[in-house]
Amino acid sequence: MKILTGHTTLLTGGSRGIGEAIAERFAAQGSNVAFTYVSSADKANALADRLSEEYGVMVKAYQSDASSFEEAQLLVDKVIEAYGKIDTLINNAGITKDTLMLRMSEEQWDRVIDVNLKSVFNLTKHCLKPMLKARRGSIINMSSVVGVFGNAGQANYAASKAGIIGFTKSIAKEVGTRSIRCNAVAPGFIETDMTEELDDKTKDSFLTNIPMKRLGTGEEVANTCLYLASDLSEYVTGQVISVCGGLNT
Ligand code: NAP
Repeated sequence: MKILTGHTTLLTGGSRGIGEAIAERFAAQGSNVAFTYVSSADKANALADRLSEEYGVMVKAYQSDASSFEEAQLLVDKVIEAYGKIDTLINNAGITKDTLMLRMSEEQWDRVIDVNLKSVFNLTKHCLKPMLKARRGSIINMSSVVGVFGNAGQANYAASKAGIIGFTKSIAKEVGTRSIRCNAVAPGFIETDMTEELDDKTKDSFLTNIPMKRLGTGEEVANTCLYLASDLSEYVTGQVISVCGGLNT
């Protein structure tokens, strides 16, 4: 039997990388999926068409900037209209603008905080109302091991990912009595466009410190999200689960 039959998932940043793997894994397990993108329209629409056809569930792509409070509200309204409910929200959209602190501009700081952290506030805020009404829901926030132990050249990114952890624990405490769970996933070094951008020195230093001596895949992160969305994790909330080949050990 499929784990998420009849489920509806709203996922930000589903057009590429980890988000694409989550969209596929969730559709394969019977969930209807609404996912967002900002610029990859052709890729996003092709993915939605393929997943709907292959797995017989409803998959739609929405162009929506997660950093915008207004766009997040519009998105949630549209998803509720089309799907009727939201069982799981996955705040996955994220960017990097890496540079050392002395060179970091205000724009580089603000944009990373807005896309990675404010987006989590935006989507959670708008999804909580229908979840509270339903008295159930799972919110999964994509943090990073960098949010736990920091990284030179990524002060903006690390701050946004650490902020997500504090937010996740607070929301878990606020809405636990309503059977709404909120957890964070902290991937290590996962093979996507985001890590493709890193220089060889950074990649080598990560690999040296990963006990499993390899990069992770989007599918491996998606499997942890699947667990957190499903009833298999019914009593799990306020947690940060690392998917990092042992890097955070
Ligand atoms: P990616 O390959 O660069 O994909 C990013 C996704 O986010 C794309 O779908 C992109 O849409 C979307 N996006 C970017 N800005 C957005 C915005 N303002 N509103 C809505 N969607 C937006 O990234 P990834 O590596 O899969 O990372 C996914 C998440 O995991 C991020 O939060 C990242 O910080 C986290 N993470 C990744 C790693 C890693 O090693 N890769 C490690 C730890 C944590 P477009 O295609 O339209 O640009």
